[in-house]
Amino acid sequence: MLFDSHSHIQFPAYDRDRDSVIKRMRDAGVKTIAVGTTALTSSAAIAAAVRYRGDVWATAGFHPAHAALRWYHDKNELKTAVREEFDADRLKELARASEVTAIGECGLDYYRTKEKEEKNRQRDVFIAQVELASELKKPLMIHCRPSPKTADAYGDLHGILKSEAAKLKGANLHFFAGSAETAGKFLELGFYFSFGGVVTFSRDYDEVVRHLPLENILLETDAPYVAPEPFRGKRNEPAYIGAVAERIAALKGVSAEKIAAATTENAKRFFSLL
Ligand SMILES: [Zn+2]
Repeated sequence: MLFDSHSHIQFPAYDRDRDSVIKRMRDAGVKTIAVGTTALTSSAAIAAAVRYRGDVWATAGFHPAHAALRWYHDKNELKTAVREEFDADRLKELARASEVTAIGECGLDYYRTKEKEEKNRQRDVFIAQVELASELKKPLMIHCRPSPKTADAYGDLHGILKSEAAKLKGANLHFFAGSAETAGKFLELGFYFSFGGVVTFSRDYDEVVRHLPLENILLETDAPYVAPEPFRGKRNEPAYIGAVAERIAALKGVSAEKIAAATTENAKRFFSLL
């Protein structure tokens, strides 16, 4: 069995053939978490978790890209270009559902911004979700993307979370793109780190994967984005997670079976699944 800890199988990218995507996932022995990015996509994630119960679970969260000043419409994510404002009460309502295993994805995304005003907006929306996670005793699913060539977002993230970590049920840094040194700071807080398709075609992640203890690593696809080799450039799907497991196994110098078993155990522990 393999556990894809971060996908978006509820997105419109799969509206035409979602049942087939789930069938291929089941045939490959994969389970997944459908991650919400707005109230709308979180509610769709819950619906997917109900429809595919036992193979799919959900998260509820508000992605920092939606707290940006210059919002753009991602057609993979939303059918219509309607911008949603962050609504803490609506998110809390959704987050209470038993299918919701974590709060997020939420965090800081500085890839396209240098503006203080925008960073502050992202920070406020993120902190509201950190508080929600500790109130509902569900772990945090964090999206943190630095601006090119700097680690600024990770520094700000650590600043926000170092005093909050003790109150949290746990936290995962999804698509971790920081250095081994940055990873070490979050490891001290007991965080998990997930890696996806990018590790199969970029060497930038080799050092940090080798450095992190296997107990703190989760696998993810982030489907429909960033498909692993040999599917690079295509729409990604949870059934492709095996390619990520194989690359992590090569970097760790252990078998793919060992990586599959360990990361599945980690995911069950992190998301409190039986
Ligand atoms: Zn994602």
